[in-house]
Amino acid sequence: MKDNLGVYIHIPFCVRKCNYCDFTSFVGVDEELKNEYIKCLLNQIRQTACGRMVGGDCGVCGEGDGIPALQGRRVDSVFFGGGTPSLLSPVQMENIMVELRRTFNLTEDCEITMEANPGTVTSWQLREYRELGVNRLSFGVQSMEAEMLAVLGRIHGEREAADSMEMARKAGFDNVNLDLMFGIPGQTQEYWQSTLRKITALAPEHISFYSLQVEEGTPIYNDIKFGRLTPLSEEDDRRMYHRGLAYLREQGYHQYEISNGAKAGRECRHNVKYWTLQEYVGLGLSAHGFVNGIRYSCDEDMTRYIKTVQRGESPVVWSHQNTLAETASEFMFTGLRLFRGVDLKEFQNRFGISAERMYAGEMAELNRFCQQGFLSIDKEEDGAFSNMRLTERGMDISNRIMALFV
Ligand code: SF4
Repeated sequence: MKDNLGVYIHIPFCVRKCNYCDFTSFVGVDEELKNEYIKCLLNQIRQTACGRMVGGDCGVCGEGDGIPALQGRRVDSVFFGGGTPSLLSPVQMENIMVELRRTFNLTEDCEITMEANPGTVTSWQLREYRELGVNRLSFGVQSMEAEMLAVLGRIHGEREAADSMEMARKAGFDNVNLDLMFGIPGQTQEYWQSTLRKITALAPEHISFYSLQVEEGTPIYNDIKFGRLTPLSEEDDRRMYHRGLAYLREQGYHQYEISNGAKAGRECRHNVKYWTLQEYVGLGLSAHGFVNGIRYSCDEDMTRYIKTVQRGESPVVWSHQNTLAETASEFMFTGLRLFRGVDLKEFQNRFGISAERMYAGEMAELNRFCQQGFLSIDKEEDGAFSNMRLTERGMDISNRIMALFV
């Protein structure tokens, strides 16, 4: 039997563009366009039922190859990401949930996550989402310091973040993630520590903590370029990372991925699918998917996306059938993001070759990383590799190590 599927749905609307954001999201979108977009999403969900989503022939009524018909496939994680999915009205959410349930077989314990931004939710709305089956919220808090929130261009303050958490609890959510950011220009170690303290006092089940990535073309990029903001040094950034890890550990959050910590049993099922190469469908503007060994992505252009779906055609603009070697390489470098590392016995079962043979040419370099304390490799009694994982120090140079498998 096939593994359970994940479903990612992109909601590309925001109240205001944050200063660091290069995600596909639009501000000031009227209800008419939002409704049109939702209609397209519903159509795209129906397309997945009959296998037309990568633009091939229909898997049910034609000879389609590529993506198989996914009608009735068991789904145990749905993730509404954005953008700001909490800008959807409960009615719009309901339409999507009904279509999802009609197309897929959502398991009873299906994890249904919705990203939300503090300052965009009301108690009533959260109760409605909960009623519709959403059972996990992920709030983009980023910081609890007004100065840092201003640098990031966020629309909320500390008060709204705390209020959102309280409203979520009252609405019946017992699984909440708070997203944090460090390495923000002007951020001191004290600011970071203060945010960590305030966030853990809210007692979420899950905390994500990412170093700010400065993307070309964003306002923050230009502020740094023209000297209006001073970026943090690499050293300060890493100090914040390790301080964060240690503090979260003290507070009972175990790190299960480079940038994610959770209370026991509260790891994000959907995101773990990405790091363990499980299948997921991507729906909506710029969404990515991985099904049947095929990676694909949908159109990023809103007008084109809508017109294409309205014509009954697939909005997938790129797809690629992975070779075995490509999948093996993805298995290694995404798996290394996990604290538990990569199960190399599973690697052998999945790809029919041991990792040490497949990456014989990289072994000298890998051994060097082990000797330097960046990487750890477990071996069986007969010397066969059983597990490979980054050490805490190795997480600082994860990209260099992962690059060996690309
Ligand atoms: S809320 Fe998220 S998606 Fe929207 S502009 Fe800010 S960072 Fe980008």
